[in-house]
Amino acid sequence: MDAITEKIVEAACAGGAPMADFAALCDTGGRFGGSESEAAACDYLARRLTALTGAEPQRATVDDLGWTRGPASIERCDGAGANFPCVSLVRSPATPPDGLEAGLIDLGRGAEADFTAQAAEIPGKIVMVRHEYMFTAGTIHRRRKYQWAMDHGAVGFLIACHLPGDLPVTGSSGATAERGIPAAGISAATAAALTAGGPARLRLHIAAEQAPRRTQNLILDLPGQSAEWVVLSAHIDGHHLGESAMDNATGLAAALAVAGAAAPHAASFRRGLRIAFFNVEEWALAGSAHYVDGLSAAERAAIQLNVNLDSIAGSPNLTALTSGFAAAEAWLVERARAHGRTLGAYRPLMANSDHYNFARHGIPAARIVAGFDEPQSALRYVLTPEDDRGKVDARDLTAATRLIAGIVADACRAPDLRLR
Ligand SMILES: [Zn+2]
Repeated sequence: MDAITEKIVEAACAGGAPMADFAALCDTGGRFGGSESEAAACDYLARRLTALTGAEPQRATVDDLGWTRGPASIERCDGAGANFPCVSLVRSPATPPDGLEAGLIDLGRGAEADFTAQAAEIPGKIVMVRHEYMFTAGTIHRRRKYQWAMDHGAVGFLIACHLPGDLPVTGSSGATAERGIPAAGISAATAAALTAGGPARLRLHIAAEQAPRRTQNLILDLPGQSAEWVVLSAHIDGHHLGESAMDNATGLAAALAVAGAAAPHAASFRRGLRIAFFNVEEWALAGSAHYVDGLSAAERAAIQLNVNLDSIAGSPNLTALTSGFAAAEAWLVERARAHGRTLGAYRPLMANSDHYNFARHGIPAARIVAGFDEPQSALRYVLTPEDDRGKVDARDLTAATRLIAGIVADACRAPDLRLR
């Protein structure tokens, strides 16, 4: 490591960084899109970027079909048990005012084969499937299960937490203005109560409102000596159940630390560093889609690499999800080794964070994530009320921030970077 990169790595974890910003972001709350908590986080991030770099971020408007969560609950039509709690999934349509009544069908995990095996039974029913650990190669995303439910004629969708007990789970539904069925997350305990004595007939109550809304991405440019850019991104928004600490206060805090450490040196870099804090990521990656789709072909061609930080602590082990870019993967793994770290790599494109929108435009892009293929790590609590600051070991977030500072400095400073 040369002297400048070493300075950047050291500065990224000096003076309380990244833990002070991590705690302050957790203090803003879960940062659900459109909430006061998310707006407070945007203001905090903009202020901190300016304080750390001396530059003002652009607040780039994103127009979005807003959705506001109202109360939600489930009752068994046979009267067994009181109202069961549930959490409507993001963008779920509302049920009729007096509820949606239908039989329940339990499809277990909710793999495609589970749907086809019971295809004749599904029309007109509320299907129940299981949430799963999200950071593995074989995970089936909730939005796919939701699509299969609609394809098979279900009228409602319940997803049960994979962790035992009373923890509900949330997430996006994938419903659009054109197509959707009411959808909610429940705890394992509620799933057991709804199926005790055989799947019950249910009445599902979901209140929700949709209205056009404006939100913002924060974009900060630290120009280098050429027209080329490295984009370091992290998503701002989260979910209301916890503090969205792992997902994604960790990524935001590390990106702030790297921005502050790199800023004094950026003018000497071969290529500029762009910090992109994307919003409404939890709403099917809407903020980054708006941003990358809105760039000209020349602007996209100028981006040599996107490093996307999403859930980077909760385990000491980091993996790069490298979106099919073999050269970028080899370069990232080799650079990590040069900085004294082992970085895992997973090549297939995963549409599970904002790097996806860069990758689908042909821009080399990787998500850095902790706990990949470690279902017992603290990352198992993401999307539940337990995603709080207590799950993050300061040593893990600090070590991750150091590594990312080193990699980002290398990417900005390399004389020649050919990752496409
Ligand atoms: Zn995330």
